[in-house]
Amino acid sequence: MVQMPVPDSGILARRDDIVRALYALLPESCVIADAVARRAYECDAVSAYRQLPLAVVLPRTTAEVSAVLKYCHEAGVPVVPRGAGTSLSGGALPVADGIVLGLGKLNKILDIDFPNRAVVAQPGVTNLGISNAVAHAGFYYAPDPSSQIACTIGGNVGENSGGVHCLKYGLTTNNILGLELVLIDGTILRLGGKALDAGGYDWLGLLTGSEGLLGVITEVTVRILRRPATARALLLGFPSSETAGDCVGQIIAAGIIPGGMEMMDRPAIHATEAFVNVGYPLDVEALLIVELDGPQVEVDHLIERVSAIADRCSAMTKRISTSEAERMAFWAGRKAAFPAAGRISPDYLCMDGTIPRRALSQVLTRMTELSQHYGLGLANVFHAGDGNLHPLILFDANKPGELDKAEAFGGDILKLCVEVGGVLTGEHGVGVEKRDLMPVMFSEIDLDQQRRVKDAFDPHGLLNPGKVFPLLSRCAEGGKMHVAGGALPHPDLPRF
Ligand SMILES: Cc1cc2nc3c(=O)[nH]c(=O)nc-3n(C[C@H](O)[C@H](O)[C@H](O)COP(=O)(O)OP(=O)(O)OC[C@H]3O[C@@H](n4cnc5c(N)ncnc54)[C@H](O)[C@@H]3O)c2cc1C
Repeated sequence: MVQMPVPDSGILARRDDIVRALYALLPESCVIADAVARRAYECDAVSAYRQLPLAVVLPRTTAEVSAVLKYCHEAGVPVVPRGAGTSLSGGALPVADGIVLGLGKLNKILDIDFPNRAVVAQPGVTNLGISNAVAHAGFYYAPDPSSQIACTIGGNVGENSGGVHCLKYGLTTNNILGLELVLIDGTILRLGGKALDAGGYDWLGLLTGSEGLLGVITEVTVRILRRPATARALLLGFPSSETAGDCVGQIIAAGIIPGGMEMMDRPAIHATEAFVNVGYPLDVEALLIVELDGPQVEVDHLIERVSAIADRCSAMTKRISTSEAERMAFWAGRKAAFPAAGRISPDYLCMDGTIPRRALSQVLTRMTELSQHYGLGLANVFHAGDGNLHPLILFDANKPGELDKAEAFGGDILKLCVEVGGVLTGEHGVGVEKRDLMPVMFSEIDLDQQRRVKDAFDPHGLLNPGKVFPLLSRCAEGGKMHVAGGALPHPDLPRF
């Protein structure tokens, strides 16, 4: 179990008073005090880590959020903000002496503004809910985490979430125009808006990816885009991960930004093909799916150019989608890669780190060496275009010592990402999982400066304590999702 701050016994002793105070602020249906009902909130998608919160509150309005935070500030009660609880870094893990503040009841779209290409949504609206709300007019919200049918826009801002199409259209931070934020003392702030430049400090940049440590987001204004007229994909097989990695680099260097560019290595190709039977080539070492989108004439031209680059990079096989059904078939295996890995190994850890694209070949080679060193299998599926790796470390938790070895292997991968100029955080956030690896990436001076920012917003450290900043003593290595017996958290969601 990951180490968390020692609960304050004084707060635990005041639990009844605290619950009474919360009932005085909110209707009965918005407070969960009962131990059984609280269990639903004891973990997020990192279900290996669990903690029953003191209570759960589900406010319905910004004013209620403000009232709860003001009370918690005065009473010294920690608060863990929560959207849908799909975090893969333990970001919404409760603390024993704090409440969970769930934003699920703030789930309305407040404004759809086509002339300004903006949607104003409450934080509990799902990512896909925004796209669905504007689909009738041919618009959508571009960042597309594969959890998009469940995760909330508030959580997306909390984690600066990404997805397959973020290579071309940017991460959450590039698609947010404005926020309403409630500070720990109950103060309500409005930042940015529908105008393209808010002026002053880049508060939106600071708050996007702040993992619930600086304030509670109660409204988000996002940018929406027109759906591209056409999308076609190439399925490219290569003799090595290095040649596939070179192809990725050459496509980008040629000035082409695909809508999505995803890669799988041999173990992942075999596992997914056995699972979905979409005709992936089995004699290649690496597979690239490159999707081009835009006006048809442009897409057709870019397909030609990518095809020529693939030839120069020794592509062994090449298929180009000629119909929407074929394009979807190319993606089907990639989307099923995580559940497919559950069929070839009793357990796996899903890591998440990002590297500069140029280092792709070097990192893939080194990861293979590490796999041999630890004697553990490895399957690679990742967002190749933006260098976001999701190595799946294959192990058997029933074999003594294998979990420890897998964790050490995972830690080495993340350290490698930092060594080549990348980052620990990828798209899943730091949370508790990567918290103790933060000193690998940041110096004590960096971390102190970040803590000062935290202190300016939340001087008593009441918002999401125990996350992001390392505790005094180190514990587990970071950045993984443990899948035991193929039982993936949220198995109903499609995987990218
Ligand atoms: C199957 C699966 C696939 C996934 N695929 C992807 C993917 O492709 N790309 C990707 O980026 N992520 C992915 N994730 C991770 C996760 O879905 C994202 O991090 C998502 O943004 C979390 O949203 P949520 O609503 O579940 O937030 P939660 O998990 O509830 O919270 C996440 C963090 O944000 C904070 N937070 C939540 N709401 C607020 C708020 N209103 N105000 C302030 N802080 C808040 C929380 O305190 C926490 O630190 C995946 C997860 C699963 C389970």
